[in-house]
Amino acid sequence: MTSKELKALGIESENLGTSTGNKWFAKGELIDSYSPTNGKLIAKVKCTTKKEYDKVIEEAEKAKLIWRDIPAPKRGEIVRQLGEKLRELKPVLGKLVSYEMGKSYQEGLGEVQEMIDICDFAVGLSRQLYGNTIHSERPGHRMYDQYHPLGIVGIITAFNFPVAVWSWNAALALVCGDVVVWKPSEKTPLCAVACQNIIAEILKSNKLPEGISSVVTGDAEVGKWIAEDDRIPLVSATGSTRMGKAVAGVVAQRLGKSLLELGGNNAIIVSPSADLKMTIIGAVFGAVGTAGQRCTSTRRLIIHESIYDKVKKSLVDAYKQIKIGDPLDSKNHMGPLIDTAAVDMYLSAIDKIKAEGGKLLTKGEVLQGSGYESGCYVTPVIAEVENHYEIVQHETFAPILYLIKYKGEVDEAIALQNGVRQGLSSAIMTNSLREAELFLSQNGSDCGIANVNIGTSGAEIGGAFGGEKDTGGGRESGSDAWKIYMRRQTNTINYTTSLPLAQGIKFDL
Ligand code: NAD
Repeated sequence: MTSKELKALGIESENLGTSTGNKWFAKGELIDSYSPTNGKLIAKVKCTTKKEYDKVIEEAEKAKLIWRDIPAPKRGEIVRQLGEKLRELKPVLGKLVSYEMGKSYQEGLGEVQEMIDICDFAVGLSRQLYGNTIHSERPGHRMYDQYHPLGIVGIITAFNFPVAVWSWNAALALVCGDVVVWKPSEKTPLCAVACQNIIAEILKSNKLPEGISSVVTGDAEVGKWIAEDDRIPLVSATGSTRMGKAVAGVVAQRLGKSLLELGGNNAIIVSPSADLKMTIIGAVFGAVGTAGQRCTSTRRLIIHESIYDKVKKSLVDAYKQIKIGDPLDSKNHMGPLIDTAAVDMYLSAIDKIKAEGGKLLTKGEVLQGSGYESGCYVTPVIAEVENHYEIVQHETFAPILYLIKYKGEVDEAIALQNGVRQGLSSAIMTNSLREAELFLSQNGSDCGIANVNIGTSGAEIGGAFGGEKDTGGGRESGSDAWKIYMRRQTNTINYTTSLPLAQGIKFDL
């Protein structure tokens, strides 16, 4: 990525990582952002100090009073402009996502497309923040409920979707009348600098107050300031289950609201009637796409014994075709892991698989030599395991695909699929209507996302996104996910001259 391209996104060699609107300032320590694609330093970002954080929140407090008074469709217009700017900058922003995070350029572009899609969705939503009208039991009374802005929404994000997750939250929060303060992952701070530059320019050209959108940078410590801050009624946190439990505990102590989007351990059930061509493509994309670093990555394949050997052979053959290398080169299918710490986790997971009795069908190794200088490129692994292995029960954020056999009816496969702590995404490949409907029923998948004849990854903006159990229970993006960004108020209006009480209670003076 050239310095001219970085400049187009407002990124200099040294960036200030605290911003309200388009005013950048920061005095904290420097974070170096290296590209996992080639190990080169892209740029540096200064972290936010506590004093600067407090200034950001003060600005956000001022801005919220103005922003919430602007009619929702007019707020939608600002989000429409954001979507338009993202359309214009899609190639270069997609490239930064790919370069800083390591996913393929196609997936980088896809991530920016998701930002555009959520902006479009939010613009429509800005005219549809509906409440209900309710029939009162009292004569001459009218009831309804309505939704008001919450105030400041804190957004803590993970490295693997360094721009989309912010936009899922920000686009909805903004049309709902909230202002946003974003703490991006310390592993991908430049993506946040780029996004803030884009939205800040729009706010400035519309003469809107800085503080409607802010960024604070740093590690978990800065995230903790957000979690503890009772000026922030809603904290939306995306990341590991460990992080989610920590944030949820702190936010709950002050009776704030949390929206948690945490780890997954996603499975595809492959039934005897599955279309095997579709199954292999769906499983391979799900397992190696983004080098297995999507929350919805396919981690487990639960395969019926009657087709197990065939599926296994096809997968091993398919893995031989996977080209690993620079994600900006379109001939490669899989790029690097985010950093060498992630490589260590991958290697330690492989050791654990072997120690627990699992069998590796492909060799798991770190690639070396020309093109692999960053030390972050690894080979994708297929392993035969049992669902109860401790390592299988955990989410390893790497391209490791577990094969698990089931023998009986689909109920057995569903029990295996549900037999983990996480509950994000799930799928069944089947041509049996009976199996598909059971999988989608109350006795089926316990995940927030359950698919038939498509894989576990690649959700669309229109649906609510999130999962149950250790995935945290939050929902973002489409459907009625917007409701968490607002406070609900029930209103009763009496247009008579008497004062009847509810439940027929008599009270005369
Ligand atoms: P992580 O938990 O290490 O970090 C996520 C963010 O939380 C970072 O910004 C980090 O600085 C911050 N953080 C960490 N500890 C904190 C604390 N105690 N208080 C406040 N903030 C804290 O996660 P990661 O490695 O960046 O991302 C990978 C994880 O994210 C995986 O588990 C993946 O499944 C999950 N994820 C989930 C979704 C989803 O929608 N369910 C989406 C993307 C990623």
